[in-house]
This record gives sequence, structure tokens and C-alpha cells, in this order.
Amino acid sequence: MTAKLFKKLFGVFVFVFTFLVAPVNLAAEPFYLSYTYPGSIGFFKLKEIPKKAKVVVKAGNREYTFPVLSEKAYFVIPYGSKGKVFVTLYEDGKEKDRRVIKVARKKYRVSRIWVKEPKKYPPELLKRIKEEQKLLRTIFSQVTPKKFSETFLRRPLKKLRVSTPFGAKRIINGKKRSVHWGTDFRAPLGAPVYAALSGKVVLARELYFTGKTVIIDHGLGIHTLYAHLSKITVKEGQFVKAGQLIGKVGSTGRSTGPHLHFGFYVSSVRADPMLVLKSRL
Ligand SMILES: [Zn+2]
Repeated sequence: MTAKLFKKLFGVFVFVFTFLVAPVNLAAEPFYLSYTYPGSIGFFKLKEIPKKAKVVVKAGNREYTFPVLSEKAYFVIPYGSKGKVFVTLYEDGKEKDRRVIKVARKKYRVSRIWVKEPKKYPPELLKRIKEEQKLLRTIFSQVTPKKFSETFLRRPLKKLRVSTPFGAKRIINGKKRSVHWGTDFRAPLGAPVYAALSGKVVLARELYFTGKTVIIDHGLGIHTLYAHLSKITVKEGQFVKAGQLIGKVGSTGRSTGPHLHFGFYVSSVRADPMLVLKSRL
């Protein structure tokens, strides 16, 4: 065998090994994933609540860790994932199950909005914005015991009419900004807003960008966010049931008209609310 041919054959072997053999599924636990789009939610169903477990999602060169506190080990296929994503369940530091997900492609539209914005933020305002961002990061990173028993999300509004989807590329006042991290639903001013899952209200106050905002901690690292409300009808620390009134649709904060901005987070990783609404929990 010539060196050239050997090299060629070795190359084929490496290719076959990498794409066919290496990502073999350990497939020990039942696995649920309704969609393979970025932003979709899934879980391993475990026989019992493990002591030290986590799910690690590897997408490109980024890793996302989801602590496990219940027999359902939730994870999210992160926004921006392409090609193959590796979802690994660890128990006591050992690999228990591993799945290879071929992420489906999704096109994200560009969303242009024009809002009143100061040319230069005064220092006190910048300070407020930074403090609020820090508060949100702290809230979304909390992983508390499970507070819901529902297996599907309730609608946060009676009628769901999407105006701006999750993942839209935002252009605000002609400038490229961050991605739109929730789903916007068109709704009349004052329309009732409901808790999508049972949980504890951990934030119910006015923030600079999201206006009157409610965040509910559902436990297991899962949070929902309701923004731009005209009225908040719950208090921080209060427990709410899925379907319970939490506020009214408004246009407070950085908003161009009455709508509900609805966000869904798992261990700080943003999920696509429309995919979560159609997925089993
Ligand atoms: Zn929005």
C-alpha cells in the first residue's frame, strides 16, 4: 500500500469514525424533544431524582449547563446552534446518557423598530440599566425546587397573535442591536395576562427597558417573563397558579404599542416561547 493510499484510507476512517461511530447514543433514559430547532426545550426522564446530576449541551465551542433537581432533566437547544449539538446527562460526574441532535435550520427575520431614546444615556440612567441587567442575570441563574405540576404551558393571553417572533434580529432606530429574546404578542391595551405555569413571583416592578415586568420562578431553573404591562396585579414573593391573572397588557418601557413580550428561560438559556408552548414539559 502506498503512503498516499494509506493516508487517503486513514482519512476515510477518521471521517467514518467521527460521523458514524463517535456520536453513538448511550440511550439509557427516555428522552423527549419535540422540535430540533434552536430555542426548543427537551428533557431526560429519570427513574428517580438523582443526587448530583446535570445536563450539558455542547453547541459549537460553547457549553451550557443545566442543573438537575427533579426526575425531569430539562435543557434547551440554544439559539445560534448549528449542525450537531451534543446533549449529555451526567450523574455524579459520570456520563449517563448522551444524544446527538441534528439542529434544524430556522430563518430569523429582521425586526426594525423606532423608539424614543436619549442620544446619550445620562450616568444615573446607565447605572440604573446596569443594575437592572445584573438583577435579571441573578434571577435567571436561580435554580429552586419544582413549583409546577402542569405538563404543558398555559397561554399567557387568551389569543396568541405573534407580532415579533423569538430570535428576530433587532434593529432599533436604524442600529443593529441584540436578538429579540422573547415572543411579542399583539393584544389590546388592558387585556388580561396569565401565568403560564405555577410558580413564585420573584419580580413585579417597573424596569427601564421592559417597563412594568413580572418574572415567575417555576423552579428547576425555569422562569417566565411578562413585559410592557400597563398594570401588575401580583406582588413579589406571591405564589401563583398556572392561568392566574398577573397583570394587564400595556406599552410601558421601550415599546411601540400595546403588546405582551413573553420570555421563557431555563438556567438562563433563552427558549423560544412558541416552541415551548407546543412542547410537553
Ligand atoms: Zn419583545
